[in-house]
Amino acid sequence: MDVTGYRERLIELEAGLSNHIRRDIASGREQLIDTAADAGDESIADESESEDFTEAELDATMLQQVQAALRRIENGSYGLCLVDGGRIDPKRLDAVPWAPYCTRHQKLLEAASRPKPTL
Ligand SMILES: [Zn+2]
Repeated sequence: MDVTGYRERLIELEAGLSNHIRRDIASGREQLIDTAADAGDESIADESESEDFTEAELDATMLQQVQAALRRIENGSYGLCLVDGGRIDPKRLDAVPWAPYCTRHQKLLEAASRPKPTL
């Protein structure tokens, strides 16, 4: 399987996410300093600050997945489902180049991680 295109996209994503995370953390810190300087808008500052960190957390999670995909390219297991080793649909990899699971197992895992409805 030719992984050159996927590798390029993943390296680009990795760089973009790293930059974004650094910016988010930096703006989070700035707001902490602003809050200390201007106690009047404390609640507003608190809110936007926590949003920044949540976004940074989401980026960090995605960055981990992108980096894991790059490692799979290096060791030759890229494009294979982590559960059963089956081929991941190339259409899925085009849309989600860091996908670690085939569509079937992704759905199963999502269903398993969803909170069970309480009756
Ligand atoms: Zn699978």
